[in-house]
Amino acid sequence: MKTNSQGGSPPPVTSINASRVNLVIIVIIGILSLASLYLGFKSFTEDQITAYIYILIGALGFAAIGYMLFRGGRPSSQTKQDIPQVDILTTLECPKCNLRRVREFKKGDYIFKNDEACTRCDGNMIISRIHKKKDPEKEKKQNFIE
Ligand SMILES: [Zn+2]
Repeated sequence: MKTNSQGGSPPPVTSINASRVNLVIIVIIGILSLASLYLGFKSFTEDQITAYIYILIGALGFAAIGYMLFRGGRPSSQTKQDIPQVDILTTLECPKCNLRRVREFKKGDYIFKNDEACTRCDGNMIISRIHKKKDPEKEKKQNFIE
């Protein structure tokens, strides 16, 4: 069985999608821990030393998960500042005349929200999409890699 060589010190926290990477690691450790516990209990009647080792590995895995969740679950003001500012846009559409307008995301925006009055007719514009601003250079790079 392959084991992940993640033991020892926790990986350095990077600003790039740190929470997502943590989540993947937590899931991997969780699966490995569950597998270890399962193997431990399964082999308990035959080989108790191996069983204890498996159970210990499983328990350590869950302890690591608890530690990571505890650390990641409470973002301090410092980690908040590390999050890169992402430009978010809101697309508004008028259901009456199909006028479409894109503006900067504002606090309180949500999809299907009855937003501002249409500038072309007497209808009300509805938020149809909330999305990230496309970075043309990033897009080029991604296409290049693919
Ligand atoms: Zn309209």
